[in-house]
Amino acid sequence: MVKIAEIDSLAKEFSKLPSIGPKSALRLTYFYINNKPLIGNMVNALNNLMNNVDKCNVCHNITSKSVNPCLYCSDINRNKYQICVVESFQDVDSIESSGTYNGCYHVLGGVISSLNNISYDDIYVTDLIRRVNKNDTFEIILATSFTLEGDATAMYIKSLFKDYSNISFSRLASGLPRGANLEYIDENTLGRALSGRVQYDS
Ligand SMILES: [Zn+2]
Repeated sequence: MVKIAEIDSLAKEFSKLPSIGPKSALRLTYFYINNKPLIGNMVNALNNLMNNVDKCNVCHNITSKSVNPCLYCSDINRNKYQICVVESFQDVDSIESSGTYNGCYHVLGGVISSLNNISYDDIYVTDLIRRVNKNDTFEIILATSFTLEGDATAMYIKSLFKDYSNISFSRLASGLPRGANLEYIDENTLGRALSGRVQYDS
């Protein structure tokens, strides 16, 4: 097999992408050798992404660099005292498509997981504390996954606010399957789980 450094180098970059193993990484690399005109488009798209897309300074959801805080955080018609804590951008999309929520979000960027080496320092919990003051009444909806890690993260977040009497915590209604990741729950089920959310007393 011919060893070409450029091929190795691109395949190595592809293999860093989620769900891409070494074979798929090589397949994608070969695809570009056969489709060189597409390389320019990909480079442009990635550059645009790097230059124009960012995370919201307040909730860490995805946003355009020119709109920060994001559209949800800056929408005066949304309830800023209701914060739905989710793991990922995709979860925000899922909740939005359920059409049942008019509060704000806080995107953690993951859940605490010893298996994946993710500690509380790696998710945006400190910023959540910064968003909540002790003078207003808040509802924090803990919408992390119904997994061990999701539950542990919800419990951990609640414990951070043990001195706050002005916050009520809720979790999505039961009826969602164990192990469920919000991203894969259909919007009607998610909408029902959100409307029927229950007080969370971990
Ligand atoms: Zn935001």
